[in-house]
Amino acid sequence: MTDRVIAIAEGRHTKPLPDVGSLVGSLVGSLVGSLGAPGTVRDTLGRQIRDLRISVTDRCNFRCIYCMPKDVFGPDYEFLARSQLLSFEEITRLARVFRNHGVEKIRLTGGEPLLRKDLERLVAMLAEIPGMDLTLTTNGSLLAKKATVLRAAGLKRITVSLDSLDDRVFRAMNDVDFPVSKVLEGIDAAASAGLGPIKINMVVKRGVNEDSIVPMARHFRGSGHIVRFIEFMDVGATNGWRMDAVMPSAEVIRTIDAVLPLAPLDPNYRGEVAQRWRYRDGAGEIGVISSVTQAFCHECTRVRLSTDGLLYTCLFATQGYDLRALLRASASDDALAAAIGAIWSVRADRYSEIRTAETAALRKVEMSYIGG
Ligand code: SAM
Ligand code: SF4
Ligand code: SF4
Repeated sequence: MTDRVIAIAEGRHTKPLPDVGSLVGSLVGSLVGSLGAPGTVRDTLGRQIRDLRISVTDRCNFRCIYCMPKDVFGPDYEFLARSQLLSFEEITRLARVFRNHGVEKIRLTGGEPLLRKDLERLVAMLAEIPGMDLTLTTNGSLLAKKATVLRAAGLKRITVSLDSLDDRVFRAMNDVDFPVSKVLEGIDAAASAGLGPIKINMVVKRGVNEDSIVPMARHFRGSGHIVRFIEFMDVGATNGWRMDAVMPSAEVIRTIDAVLPLAPLDPNYRGEVAQRWRYRDGAGEIGVISSVTQAFCHECTRVRLSTDGLLYTCLFATQGYDLRALLRASASDDALAAAIGAIWSVRADRYSEIRTAETAALRKVEMSYIGG
């Protein structure tokens, strides 16, 4: 590596809010008026807002090689200070405004969301929003302790990341020597707590864990859990992404199908990120997420809120919009709604459809900071 890599704190830039010069003042009425009824705002490609991913912490107890490489996220790395984080009240207030814009699903993520103190309190607050589906993605390390309390607080389902069942491979990928057995305990605890069907995310990095694909499929077949194989993506600016480390989903499917025959399934809903496959013998289903080889930007209804309240309209964005500044300037709910509507209405993101070696080298925001 020749160039110094720039990660989260240094690499964050904010975009000016579009057309919202003094949102807190007189513009609000006209903006709200121009955006139409709640839930109808569309971006420049006709896409609506449906999914909100909220990063509740930029910290993590893992150092996955494809996400928070140790040489960048080392002991001297400066994470956000507590005062910079959105409070649970601020998050909930924004979530309600997003609900009025048509958001139907919230995914809590990070960093490692279970590291955020009293997370169950936030879950309980979000669970009160009518019509909102509430899920969470975790590395599973603290799940055995937390599953019951999260379920009781109103969490509906959970996704657990697990990149291999081979302890040696998994420890090398999380790079903190964390054992597979503890994650499996977490998955069992989540299932017992009623957080199923559980999704298990496995990032496939060629040359690292492709031998773990079939064992992973075999292990969870018939369990009711759904393994999803994710193409290694060029998120952030620090993970040393290269196209030749991406194993295309088509190859993952061929590999599994050769030993455990598969058939395609229809999506559950329009815009579903994973392509679904079922075992021909009826032992359940798996999914593949092909952000690199089969971009799905044309159906992308996702928006991301960073730990410190910046709004990102694409996973591969280089800049976000500072909603925290509005919140802390006592903006009304109408002003927040107008800002979000204005931001969404100018959205033109389709990074995965236009990805090249040059775009991969852009200083994009880190995934641990805006959430997966
Ligand atoms: N720490 C939690 C976890 O690992 O589940 C939540 C945050 S993590 C950023 C969310 C998801 O993003 C995980 O499933 C992780 O495997 C995935 N992810 C992170 N970096 C990735 C990359 N470069 N390519 C593909 N997926 C990635
Ligand atoms: Fe942490 Fe999740 Fe990133 Fe791994 S993928 S380093 S567990 S945030
Ligand atoms: Fe959505 Fe951006 Fe991913 Fe395309 S690249 S699917 S616009 S988040």
